[in-house]
Amino acid sequence: MTVNKQAWSIEEADRVYGVSGWGGGYFKVGNNGNIHIAADPTNPNVSIDFQAVVNEIVEEGIQFPVVVRFHDILRAQVININETFAKVIGEAGYQGQYRGVYPIKVNQMREVVEEIVDAGAPYHYGLEAGSKSELLAVLALNTNAESLTILNGYKDEEFIRLALLGRKLGRKVVVVIEKYSELLLLVKLSKELGIEPIIGLRSKMTAKGKGKWQGSSGDRAKFGLTIPEIINAARYLEAEGMSNTLQLLHFHIGSQLPDIRSIKNAVNESARIYTELHKMGFELKYVDVGGGLGIDYDGSKSSNDSSVNYSLHEYVADVVYGMKEVCDLEGIPHPSLVTESGRAITAHHSCVVTEVVGEIKADGAQLDTEALDGEHILLKNMRELRDYLTPDLNLQEVFNDASQWKEQAVEAFKLRVVSLEELGKIETLYWQIMRRLQSMYTQIDFVPEELQDLDFTLSSQYLCNFSVFQSAADTWAIDQLLPVVPLSGMHEAPDSFCSIVDITCDSDGKLDQFVVDRNIENVLPIRKIPAGEKYYLGLFLTGAYQDVMGDMHNLFGRLNEVHIFSYDDDPKDFYIEEVVKGSSVENVLNVMQYHPSAMALDVKRMIDKEVAGGTIPPREGVRWTDFYEQCLAGYTYLKT
Ligand SMILES: *Cc1c(COP(=O)(O)O)cnc(C)c1O
Repeated sequence: MTVNKQAWSIEEADRVYGVSGWGGGYFKVGNNGNIHIAADPTNPNVSIDFQAVVNEIVEEGIQFPVVVRFHDILRAQVININETFAKVIGEAGYQGQYRGVYPIKVNQMREVVEEIVDAGAPYHYGLEAGSKSELLAVLALNTNAESLTILNGYKDEEFIRLALLGRKLGRKVVVVIEKYSELLLLVKLSKELGIEPIIGLRSKMTAKGKGKWQGSSGDRAKFGLTIPEIINAARYLEAEGMSNTLQLLHFHIGSQLPDIRSIKNAVNESARIYTELHKMGFELKYVDVGGGLGIDYDGSKSSNDSSVNYSLHEYVADVVYGMKEVCDLEGIPHPSLVTESGRAITAHHSCVVTEVVGEIKADGAQLDTEALDGEHILLKNMRELRDYLTPDLNLQEVFNDASQWKEQAVEAFKLRVVSLEELGKIETLYWQIMRRLQSMYTQIDFVPEELQDLDFTLSSQYLCNFSVFQSAADTWAIDQLLPVVPLSGMHEAPDSFCSIVDITCDSDGKLDQFVVDRNIENVLPIRKIPAGEKYYLGLFLTGAYQDVMGDMHNLFGRLNEVHIFSYDDDPKDFYIEEVVKGSSVENVLNVMQYHPSAMALDVKRMIDKEVAGGTIPPREGVRWTDFYEQCLAGYTYLKT
């Protein structure tokens, strides 16, 4: 990989780091080389310099790593999907309405859900829950009588009773039947309680989504009813005198659908089921097309797993026109349309800011390479190879010789023929040769593969103060790509390459897939860490799933958060509206059944004993006791 250092510019930086590709219109590289955020699309004057946000976090004394949430982006995305549906529905002369819901599993943070509900209120935008805990949350939060509350996921009796409570409170709560037995339970309980349910049926679709979640549809799908089950369910409700409660047809063919064709296909299939049910006398009101609206994580606008080959407008048009076409052919009224987009609503609004706290590289330490008296021939050879290395040599041959001699030197060392110091010098020379080869190969036409790998071998690993398992779980679990970008300094050409490692004790705790110039590379071009300067990296598009799926690996726990609102009248165009403290050591130990206050007492007793025995002076003993307690109350991540 080469970076054009001569012609480096802000445009080049944007291309290399792909910021406007994945930024969704919210992020760009500013003229000063810092990431800028246009959080509020209704106000083009608002431009927040990310470095200013970082400076304020530092001034407030908030420790890194920090999750930064831009509430305006969340609002803008909610408005965006609702306005786009309204526009397309108007243009198409579609008779149904749009009644979208936000599935809270994508990010259940109360502040996030409340912001979405608030921004969506004018559109009667609703919520979706997939478990009992989520249902309890949405019952409390979705108070709009017009908006839908959609309940997916497997259900027990309590779950269904809670749904019926929602009906009693006057809400449009739809119980989506994932499994036939749930229907029998629902009918029984609603009759017992005398509460009329609203019922949805989830269809197990044959239309398959491409991408990482394609198992969500097809014969082996975990959720949904087969066609015979759908017909049986409708007839059963009819026999129970409850035909009118069957109001919604649901499908969800997977998250992050990269290809628009799978969406069209599924809409068409669902439209056929909907119209046929209508003809059988079941006048459903809603078709719910589920989630799946994707995000362009790699900025390639393609059908790669981490990208999407369609825009929001195209997606909406395919849903609206796809449904209209089938209904019109059959002469059936247009249903209201529901989407359960989660990823597309929340991904952009949050990112993780982490500080680089160290650098690990193969040639980090060097010895002098002066000749030793009676030195081993391998050392002499290696020195000569370095001294006479010019670009007109066969570089592959140089690479082979150096690599072979290094291996031989290690063998010779084990046989007590080469000394430790000789081996140190040989390794130093080896890496010096590799560095030179790396700089030479950029000038030749055909580069052998082994030499290209030098970018990776010689790249630094930047040790960053965060945990992959907490903040970027999908990069580890399913090779999800997330953009990683320096928050400042992009006006200068990168002069080295790096990959990222986290502070967990796990070798899997690393990021080594990066989108560089729309390609996937195992190293990221980057400026060398300037001595004595703080160096912050942003991990972007973490608002969907990543924020809430993190685990407790190494007991790091949740991050400190700052919630940002844009404000045009402010000199910096923003203010920190809220700071949410991350996990303290006490918090995470508690989860694992420790008793931190008892531990503090135990340690105090041990210290007191040493004080009594004279090994620790009393004043020092008090300091140690306080220190232990402070650390218990403190943040779990590195203090820098
Ligand atoms: C996960 C899920 C969603 C959300 O999907 P996104 O791709 O994030 O929009 C919607 N509906 C159901 C049933 C889900 O399981």
